[in-house]
Amino acid sequence: MTHSKSEELFRRAQEIIPGGVNSPVRAYRSVGGNPPFIARGEGSHIFDADDNEYIDYVGSWGPLLLGHRHPEILSALEKALANGTSFGAPTGQEVELAAAICDAVPSIEMVRLVNSGTEATMSAIRVARGFTGRDLIVKFEGCYHGHVDSLLVKAGSGLATLGIADTQGVPKAFCDTTLALPYNSTDAVEQAFREHGQQIAAVIVEPVVGNMGCVPPQTGYLEALREITARHGALLIFDEVMTGFRVAFGGAQERFGIRPDLTTLGKVIGGGLPVGAYGGRRDIMSRVAPSGPIYQAGTLSGNPLAVAAGLAMLRHLKAHPEVYSQLEARAAKLCSSAPAGIAVNRVGSMFTFFFTDRPVTDYESAKRSDTGRFGRFFHAMLERGIYLAPSQFEAAFVSAAHTEEDIRKTVAEAQEAFNA
Ligand SMILES: *Cc1c(COP(=O)(O)O)cnc(C)c1O
Repeated sequence: MTHSKSEELFRRAQEIIPGGVNSPVRAYRSVGGNPPFIARGEGSHIFDADDNEYIDYVGSWGPLLLGHRHPEILSALEKALANGTSFGAPTGQEVELAAAICDAVPSIEMVRLVNSGTEATMSAIRVARGFTGRDLIVKFEGCYHGHVDSLLVKAGSGLATLGIADTQGVPKAFCDTTLALPYNSTDAVEQAFREHGQQIAAVIVEPVVGNMGCVPPQTGYLEALREITARHGALLIFDEVMTGFRVAFGGAQERFGIRPDLTTLGKVIGGGLPVGAYGGRRDIMSRVAPSGPIYQAGTLSGNPLAVAAGLAMLRHLKAHPEVYSQLEARAAKLCSSAPAGIAVNRVGSMFTFFFTDRPVTDYESAKRSDTGRFGRFFHAMLERGIYLAPSQFEAAFVSAAHTEEDIRKTVAEAQEAFNA
């Protein structure tokens, strides 16, 4: 492979964009080397500026459940484009998308569309605080909920990748409103509520963590969060920006049979365009402006192109429930290829190979991974045309566009990469 065009683009980018990228993990800082610049995608494959071809397991970090350029999404976009790109006024399509979300996700009775996962979580915690009249938020170490000020405490994902403990630029007073507890520990949650129960507005959790690598909830953990929050009058927020429509049509809450009070969505519901959403119980969501006093707004919210892509995605998934069993089978096959000495976590089509021989159940155990070995594996795979997230602390995604042949090739290349 040659990378001269990508190298030249990256050189120029670094002069005018911080780190040369519009989101930190894209810069390959933790694995070394420079990122390929991507020119186009087709199904499960992407092509870089030098026309190198890769099998893509990043899928734009989650949204592309159906792969690149799915025909139904493209045709919905073309139709929407013909009518105009933005009105800043209500449209019929956004009602359809809201209905599709409420229909699919068991706990969502009302939903508001926003433009990103970050906006969704930021708004959800505002609503939780407004509804309960309390200020504290409980989050879990290694969970990422977007770059919301008060949620960047021990936030996994890009911060874990770059070794940034906590970002600069967030006032201490904001951090003081956040309690960060170890994931999968019911005792830690019980103790926090014993000490601060009257002040806790909400517990926000990735029901399956994707942002310290894939870490599933232990048996009974989500049930315990549901029970403890209800007992103390706090809300339970499932951040399903990654897991929504990914680990099941109705998200992790369908898969594990838990009913949170509020849910945040993003990624898959935009079909590859920028969309987020937050929703939940009618009595809570009715407090959002203009029907209630909790303010939240957006110039491009419910954007017609984004809504068209999202609606096409959700309609396809509803009409093709077999997608989920296919994803499950292909991801399982891929994961069975990991050699001894690697801890593999997988839920549905999200998974991570951790370079540690001990089980990974929380942020502490994820951090025991040998990131140097991961980096060498990552580059060995990239050279073999397999495109993974450039960080030990990210999930990989199988899409419906990945074929048996893609999986077979990936398993074969992975075996060589492990040996190397
Ligand atoms: C990606 C992600 C976010 C942030 O979404 P953006 O669209 O990047 O702002 C929030 N929560 C979770 C669980 C995510 O995976």
